[in-house]
Amino acid sequence: MTYRDIPSALMALESGEVTAEALVQEHIERMEQADPKIHAVLTSLAEQALEQARDIDRRRQTGEELGGLAGIPFTAKDMFLLRDVRMTAASKMLDSFFAPYTGTAIGKLLEADAVCIAKVNQDEFAQGSSTEFSAYGATKNPRDLERVPGGTSGGSAAALAAGIGLFSIGTDTGGSIRQPAAYCGVVGVKPTYGLVSRYGVVAVVSSFDTIGPLAHTVDDAKLVLSIMAGRDRHDATTIEVADDHFDTPITKQPRVAILQEYMDGLSPEMTAVYDRALDQLRESGWDIESVSLKNIGLALPAYYILNPAEISSNLERYDGIRYGSSDQSADNLLVTYTQTRGSFFGPEVARRIMTGTYVLSAGYYDAYYKKAMQARTLIREDFEQAFANYDVLIGPTTPSAAFKLGEHTSDPVAMYLEDIMTVAANLAGIPALSLPIEGPDELPAGLQIMAAQRGEAVLFDVAGRFERQLATQLKAVKL
Ligand code: GLN
Repeated sequence: MTYRDIPSALMALESGEVTAEALVQEHIERMEQADPKIHAVLTSLAEQALEQARDIDRRRQTGEELGGLAGIPFTAKDMFLLRDVRMTAASKMLDSFFAPYTGTAIGKLLEADAVCIAKVNQDEFAQGSSTEFSAYGATKNPRDLERVPGGTSGGSAAALAAGIGLFSIGTDTGGSIRQPAAYCGVVGVKPTYGLVSRYGVVAVVSSFDTIGPLAHTVDDAKLVLSIMAGRDRHDATTIEVADDHFDTPITKQPRVAILQEYMDGLSPEMTAVYDRALDQLRESGWDIESVSLKNIGLALPAYYILNPAEISSNLERYDGIRYGSSDQSADNLLVTYTQTRGSFFGPEVARRIMTGTYVLSAGYYDAYYKKAMQARTLIREDFEQAFANYDVLIGPTTPSAAFKLGEHTSDPVAMYLEDIMTVAANLAGIPALSLPIEGPDELPAGLQIMAAQRGEAVLFDVAGRFERQLATQLKAVKL
């Protein structure tokens, strides 16, 4: 790719070194060449992207004002509604669903004149950790075609790492931006809950779902996130975002602590990866302490109770009547409902609906759902206490580097364990970023950085410095 980050592409576009049409064309050609090997793309928007790019060039020539991302090609997880474009959430349930309107977050990017070139693959309804649970086939990791790209925003991470688009947008409910970012060697950011509107994004786990960018650099991710962020009257959970939200001056040296529990469970191989990064940061002058969160061990079990509970409720809407696919063979409504759900949901989605229904049922609510909610409060309090002493907490993003395709598909618990280091940030609603570092066997790994709620300014500040100091050089992607 000619331009590796957004500012250099913007500069080239502004100076006339390249036209938006040529830049978008270059990324479309890359998509046509690389995607058959990785299968990241579900819907190509090549034609309309080129049309939009030509319009941007025309407006530039006539001196019209352009948005902050004018001409920058990107991809979007197939959870974002784009008017009149097919949107599947990687489910057969939405196989022939065309979005009736455009969602807020992606709409803001389009208003900034960014150009969406493709809707990309994911796990069905954002449930999974490898993008193998897509009803349209697995995506492969462009750094090693035998490995998963991570999930659920695996199409986003794989496309970006393969040079398709200059950034991508995904959703993160329990790690779905950070984990694939770590596996594919890109930056991924899960913002504070409510920072970005969920309007026009498929609802999965409404009290956890967040929207964020995947990008090549920390600054790129910050730029994209700042454009998507903000209060939206269509989403009551969105928060006010002050003008200096991302750039509040950081006057003191941020206090950094490593999350001890995340380090304790690592394999010797992964311990070496993080020890190396920490040594390098200490040599760059950081004083890195260690902190222990006493309830962090409850995060994964609590997550896998609350997540299915909300899924069972949110996915009730796929009833074969209102929209989406429908099994029309039955002659009464109840059977239409059960057969539709029985034939169009994949096995992981069905498992979560059943688990969720169970933990919410009258007899088990107190034993499971209520307890998990209490655990969620304890975890949130643990983080609040830690952030009274530290500006950021750091640790691994994942317990391992990208695993092999098929390695965990028959063992749901092994798959769930991949999320052990990412779900806590979603339980607590705090922002977290995964920064690529050199992992084992020439694969990438992710260094996770977490900050207090609304702490995006310090999060990006520290991540940017780490990025410069670590100066990670990953092996080039060859496709
Ligand atoms: N892997 C997690 C899960 O399966 C995360 C999903 C997500 O963030 N959408 O629930």
